[in-house]
Amino acid sequence: SVPASIASALSAGARRGLLMKGGAVIEAAAKVRHVAFDKTGTLTHGRPAVTDVVALDGATEALAVAAAVEAGSSHPLAVAVAAHASAQGAPALPSRAARVLPGRGVEAEVDGIPAGVCSPRHAREAGLLSDAGFGTATQLEHQGKTTVVVWRGDRALGLIALRDEPRDDAPEAMRQLKAMGLGATILTGDNPRTAAAIAGGLGMDYRAGMLPEDKLAAIRELSATGGVMMVGDGINDAPALKQADVGVAMGSGTDVALETADAAILRDRVTDVAAQIRLARRTMANIR
Ligand code: ADP
Ligand code: MG
Repeated sequence: SVPASIASALSAGARRGLLMKGGAVIEAAAKVRHVAFDKTGTLTHGRPAVTDVVALDGATEALAVAAAVEAGSSHPLAVAVAAHASAQGAPALPSRAARVLPGRGVEAEVDGIPAGVCSPRHAREAGLLSDAGFGTATQLEHQGKTTVVVWRGDRALGLIALRDEPRDDAPEAMRQLKAMGLGATILTGDNPRTAAAIAGGLGMDYRAGMLPEDKLAAIRELSATGGVMMVGDGINDAPALKQADVGVAMGSGTDVALETADAAILRDRVTDVAAQIRLARRTMANIR
């Protein structure tokens, strides 16, 4: 009977770490035509590591100032900068009055002088980064590295580049989705060059520089051509997870993402996205 097949699909999924909040989610998942993925923490591990520290204009204190500023943030980039600064033995500088600018960066007073760490785009808009500095940042981004600008007073002290590796099974997951006739797009707040490097390696489309409301609008747009699944882990993804026909949270994601989503992948395997859709398709095919 219908309820029995649904119930057995829900429990078969649960045994493999594929949670779905009820039969309506299975029905919607069977109709998905396109899957949208957040990048950081979803397609990648979400544990970036610092690869380059580039001094600008002979400044030597970029790393120490960055660590002092990032002490006021819990962003994955902040955690990576703090770890690198302490491994390099950068001096600890006093900081206060940190302010987070979502999707842009963080600011604080370091040694009593305004300072910050932010995206090259934001630094550029604030008149803090030279053409040469912006060019170097762009080169690092072309290598697939997220790059941030460290500034103090009215000038940039340096650039810090960070790499966050794709999860090992991401290429296989994309092969499976493609074989199932599904589209796959990255929606990220990171810059377009880093997004392109990751997306290109996985054969995916991408949209970059997205704030939470932009991700939501993108899901709406994708819905015009069929059912959309959104897979994410962050607070930033919550509006998009809610808007999608099926919102899927990574098990290691934030509580907000897990609460908002219709479904969850407890083992953080990207291939489980395809497994979840296959399970839903099989279940609905048996009912019809
Ligand atoms: P994502 O979608 O990758 O999680 P976010 O919206 O969190 O992106 O951030 C977008 C961009 O804003 C980052 O790539 C970075 O340039 C900048 N940014 C955000 N938070 C921080 C931070 N704590 N330190 C430095 N840069 C930051
Ligand atoms: Mg994320």
